[in-house]
Amino acid sequence: MEIVDRAILTCPPTNMNALLDGSGTPEYTPTVEHSLTTCEKCGTGVWIGPRQRQARALLGDSAVVLCMVCAIQAQRERGGGTVRHLGGGDGRPRTLG
Ligand SMILES: [Zn+2]
Repeated sequence: MEIVDRAILTCPPTNMNALLDGSGTPEYTPTVEHSLTTCEKCGTGVWIGPRQRQARALLGDSAVVLCMVCAIQAQRERGGGTVRHLGGGDGRPRTLG
């Protein structure tokens, strides 16, 4: 299935803070409920949240996990689209150490 026909689950890449460095955006911290997976397009490591995992389980092949960079690109190729937040993000921050 082409990416263009699939629901995009946008996940922050593990190098998110390096990408945001200097942008003034607060540091991204995944929660303890996030787990690691890979972007299906570029293979970079991404954090996937519990609701995104649920959506992926529900949608199967009609969903695609993309890092933010690939998701933005795919969105452009589609000429826009609907961006929805699945909620969440209220979990306990994971301590990186
Ligand atoms: Zn990617």
